[in-house]
Parts: sequence; C-alpha cells; structure tokens
Amino acid sequence: MNLKQNILIQLKAMKTFLNCPSIIHDPPHVLEDIIHGHPMPPKHFRLDVDFDGIAWITFDSPKSSVNVWNEETLREFNHLLETIEHDTRVKALVLRSAKERIFIAGADIKAIRTMQHVRVNDLIWLGQAVFDRLARLKVPKIAAIHGACMGGGFEVTLACDWRIASDHDSTKIGLPETQLGILPAWGGSTRLSRIVGVSKALDLITTGKLRNATAAKRAGLVSHVVPAERLETLARRLAREKRPGMRFLFENVFSPVIGYLAKRKVLEKTRGLYPSVTKAVEVVTHAVHGEIEKGLLLERNAVAELIKSRDSARLIDLFFKREEANKRPAFSGTALTIHDATVIGAGVMGAGIAHILASRGIRVLMTDVTNDSLARGLERIHGLVSDATRRRLVTKVQARDTLDRISTTHVPVPLNRHHLVIEAATESMELKKKIFADLAARVSADTILATNTSALSVSDLAKTVPHPERVVGLHFFNPVHRMPLVEIITLPETSPDVLATVVSFVQKLGKTPVVVKDSPGFLVNRILVPYLMEAVRLHESGIPVKDIDEAMLEFGMPMGPMRLLDEIGLDVAAHVAKTLANAFPDRFPHTDALDKMVAAGQLGKKTGQGFYRYENRKEILATTHSDLPKHESIQTNLALLISQEAMRCLKEGIARNADDIDLAMVLGTGYPPFRGGPITFARDTGIIDY
Ligand code: NAD
Repeated sequence: MNLKQNILIQLKAMKTFLNCPSIIHDPPHVLEDIIHGHPMPPKHFRLDVDFDGIAWITFDSPKSSVNVWNEETLREFNHLLETIEHDTRVKALVLRSAKERIFIAGADIKAIRTMQHVRVNDLIWLGQAVFDRLARLKVPKIAAIHGACMGGGFEVTLACDWRIASDHDSTKIGLPETQLGILPAWGGSTRLSRIVGVSKALDLITTGKLRNATAAKRAGLVSHVVPAERLETLARRLAREKRPGMRFLFENVFSPVIGYLAKRKVLEKTRGLYPSVTKAVEVVTHAVHGEIEKGLLLERNAVAELIKSRDSARLIDLFFKREEANKRPAFSGTALTIHDATVIGAGVMGAGIAHILASRGIRVLMTDVTNDSLARGLERIHGLVSDATRRRLVTKVQARDTLDRISTTHVPVPLNRHHLVIEAATESMELKKKIFADLAARVSADTILATNTSALSVSDLAKTVPHPERVVGLHFFNPVHRMPLVEIITLPETSPDVLATVVSFVQKLGKTPVVVKDSPGFLVNRILVPYLMEAVRLHESGIPVKDIDEAMLEFGMPMGPMRLLDEIGLDVAAHVAKTLANAFPDRFPHTDALDKMVAAGQLGKKTGQGFYRYENRKEILATTHSDLPKHESIQTNLALLISQEAMRCLKEGIARNADDIDLAMVLGTGYPPFRGGPITFARDTGIIDY
C-alpha cells in the first residue's frame, strides 16, 4: 500500500469515526509534495541492503551529534521506505543510528517552536503517515536502539516488530511530550498500549520519565538488552525469525476503568493544571481498541488543541532554557576536568554530594570529625545506592563502582592531589572559616575551594584563604540526588578558569548550573524567604495553615509554604530568614513566630510538631480548611511576592538574566513550570511592571 492510499484510509476514518468532528484541516500540502515530489539522495540516512536481504537504515544527520525528526528527515525516511517496498531482495529492515549517544532525540522542537500552528499540524500528519507506512511494510522490522530514544524517536520504533536496546548508559527511552504540554501524536499514544498494556503506557506517557535499558525491558518497551557491540548480531537473528503478532492483552479490556482511575489520580496530582496529561489519559484509553487510524485521529485532534495553549509554549521555552544552561560553556575561561574531589562533612548534604560525585565517576574523599559521623554518612550513601539498584536505575556493577570510589577519613590528610574541595559542614561562619583556613594549608595552589553554605557570605569565607580567586559557592539542594539545580556563587575575584571548570563540572553531574552573585540568600532562598515569611504572617493573622497551603497548591506549587517550612525545619528557616532580615531590613521584616516555635522545640517534621503534627514522620492532624475565594487572594498575595523579589534580583544583577531566574525557581523550588517562572508570570499577567 502506498502513502496516498494510507492517507485516504485515514481520511475515511476521520469522516466516520465517532461522529467526532476533526478540528484540524485536511491532509496538508506537505503530504502531496511527498507523494509527487522527486526523491533526492538522502542526506541524513544510509541504506544498505546486504546479502541476507536485510535493509539497514542508518540515521546519521551530517555535522550534528543528534538525529531528529523534521520535515526533511521524515521526507527522506519516507523515500527510503518507498525504495524498500519496491526492492524484492529485502527480507527485513533494521533501523539504527550512527551517533555515539543518540538513537533519535525526537521531533525537532527548535523548529516546532517557531512554526505556525498549521505547520505543526502538517508535521503531525506527515510523521503519522510515514510511521504508518513503516508499520505496514510486510517484512520484519527491527529497531536497534543505542543512545537516547525519545518522543518521536521512540514512536518510530513502535511501528517496528522488534525493539532491542544496548545496555549503554546513554540508552534512555521514553515519551516526554506531556512535559512540554503536548502528547505523543506520531502513533505513540495509540500503539504503545497495544504493546505493553494501557497501565504501563499511561505511566510512561503521563510521567514523561525516561527509562534506562534495563527498566525499559522490565516495562516491556524493548524485548532484548545486549551490549552495544552485540546489537547487530541480535538484529540479524531476529530478522530471520517470524514476525511476532500482536498479543492479546487482557487488561486492555478494562481500559475504560483503568482510564477512569488514572484520570482521577492525575487530576488529584495535577489539580487539572496540566491539560496535556489529562488529555493523554483520554487519548490512550480511547485509542487502545479498534483501527489504528482512529487513534491517530484522536492524537492529531488532541495535539492541535494543546499546541495552541500558552502553557505549552511556556513549557517548551523552559525546556530550551534548561537545555541551554546544561550545555552552555562558561564564558571565557578554560574548563579542566575534575577527577578527584574532597567533601568536608558527611551529614545530609555531604553524603548526598559524595554519592552524586562518585556515581558520575569522580573519586571522592569524604571527611568528618568522628568515625561515627562518617559511618552515618556512609550508611546514607549505601541507602541511596541500594535504592537506585532496587529501582533498576543503576546496575549492580555501577552500584559497586560508585561505592568503590568513596573513601573516608576523620584525621587531616594532605589534599594537594585533589582538584576540588566541597565544604558541607555544619552551617556556622566561625566553623567554616576555620575549615577554610586549615584547608588552605593542605591543598595545592590550584585546588578549587567550594562551599555548600545556604546563606553565609562566600566573600567572607574567601578572605580566610590566600587564593580567593579559587573560591566559589556550590549550592546543591536537598535531596541532592533528586534536585536538578546547583547555584554557582561567584565573587568579583573568581578566576574565569575556575568558573569554567565548576560550570562544566556541574553539567557533567547531570545538574543544571545557574551562576549567581554572592549576596545574602543567593538567588533561590532570597526569592523564597519573603514568600515563606509572608505565609507565616498570614497564619499569624488568623488564616488556617491548610488554607494557605491549599491556595499555593492550586497555584501549582508542589508543596504549600507551611508544609515546606516543616520539611526544611523551622530552626533552619528561622536562621536563613534572620540572615536576610539583617541584610534587607526594609523588605524582610522579622517575625518572631518561628523563633517562638523553635524555643518550644517545634522544629517541624523532624520533631513531630511544626505547623502540622506528625507521628512517625506522617501528618496526623488533618486541619480543616474552607473558603475558596479566600484562596485566590492568598494566592495573588504570595505569588506577587515571589515575582517582586525575582524582579529585584534581576535589577540587582544577582543572576545574569531573567531566563536564569525563571529556570532556577522552577528547578530549585518546583515553581509551576507551566507558568514559565516568576518573571514570565509577572510579564504574562502584568501583576508588576516588567
Ligand atoms: P548536617 O548537620 O547534616 O551535617 C553537617 C556535618 O558536618 C556533620 O556530620 C558534622 O559532624 C560535620 N562537621 C562539623 N564540623 C566539621 C569539620 N570541622 N570537619 C568536617 N565535618 C564537620 O548538615 P547539612 O544539612 O548536611 O548541611 C551542611 C551544609 O549544607 C550547611 O552549610 C547547610 O547550610 C548547607 N545546606 C543544607 C541544606 C539542607 O537542606 N540540609 C541544603 C543546602 C545547603
């Protein structure tokens, strides 16, 4: 069947299906072009048919480390499929990539961002039609996945009979579209549930999470996982085997119930603030039965609607801001690679930092004052590693290697061979100054000295060492393995090479660096504290804790401010608030409510009593809440405070630009990503002059 016939079938389905009016226009001109256009020699693919009749399609976009789907690559792929359809030698097809770490990274989001909606709809049609053509090819089709296989990159493999993957750590598989405010619309929302069942499909699509090869196999996304060098042999073997037919999946009979429960869960979690996720549940559960074309139509209609929303545009913008920050080299300096590092302090943060460094291949020496505290730190790290192993995020070998890279000491040792020292000892200026002065005598003149302080002045610490140009703040967030942001605090004297080295170091840890100036509270805490203190003030004025939290959950924050204070610990919060109140007395009026609670031993979750009451670290007092209109005014008041302080930071040059501030707040505090960040929110709503 040729592509034109395919399109006709889809059109017919569109007319008849469910009497559901299509909100998008007729098949677009690009499809006509493809049907009638002259095939050009492909630039992005190689096609080799070997003696066994296997057609090897290798995706290898020139002058790029990635492969993506766009009009050009889809067009070329389509012509290759046409060639294969007419080549009687071909007995099987294998799709693979020549890139080192990427199979196919998905759709070309950069191009989509600047496209008019109508063109995006064209592209959806095109992808659906081309992948459908692949699905209809009569020979066995095998996707040999090595490297990142995301979004449209995974959707094309769903049109194949076999998906096999390399066990390399670059192999990551998933459908992250809902995170961009859209949904998989190149057959992903339709075909996946027919392969792995509705529940697993919903899980993958609604969370948008990527899986490594082992987890992907467990979820049924791929059938085999082998070392990269064995992919070809395995593909050859499968090419000779009978095509696996569609399995009957009993659970799919219950798709309406599964869909209903999933939607309820999603709405509970997202409060309806992420329409793409709710829509995805609807499409997946409706598309699981009947003709594929019906599902494809649902996908097209849903995406045509979602792509028009401002939320989706903001989520896509944010995605690019993060990509930029993850890749952008730091300014003028030369980055050196860090192989060895010391972490001072084996507490919550020290152990978390040592763990993440070691898991990324860095040898770590962790120090503390006693053997007992080191033992507790190591226990924490063992806990993190075994949790990751249990959840198949790492293999047993990777887990062992991580632990092998960590050594400990509680006595002073020479550190002159270490490139970086990260101090994460107890928050006290006096103590940290002593540690820095002592370090200066034991490290080499090249060693970078970093502090993980939450609120102390990095400049003051730098004064205690002979090389202040090698001092920076590296502010990791708690829990280190989950929080994606690291604030890099620089001083006027920080050397460009030091900055370049730490930026690249943070990027290699898989975290997003945001460079900020040394100023009380740095960036994230500075913006967060007035918001938290205002929440306390509102509570003092008589508003129930639950009402305040509820208002901000409705705004989209992952946790209300009162609960957040309980989690942080009221002692820690009071300390940071005091530092900021001293620095900005006009704007951060000091409230003694927190001090009183601290004096009464109410430190939050860790002592069982804060704004909520806890038993075994679980809340036991369900306070009542009420009054919805009140929520709105609480929300406006608190959201305004966040945006105001963010604007002040921008004007004072605490961060380099508005994008960095938005990004830091989303990644560091969970500020609702669909709102784009506090500065975008201020601009879009006009609540303050931008
Ligand atoms: P913690 O109390 O859990 O751990 C501090 C550790 O430092 C303890 O094990 C202590 O024995 C050790 N220590 C004290 N003096 C030392 C010395 N001279 N040499 C080596 N180790 C010494 O504290 P934490 O929560 O891990 O915080 C550590 C640092 O990280 C603080 O500066 C804090 O402000 C900052 N921070 C904490 C968080 C958080 O949420 N906990 C978040 C970001 C930053």
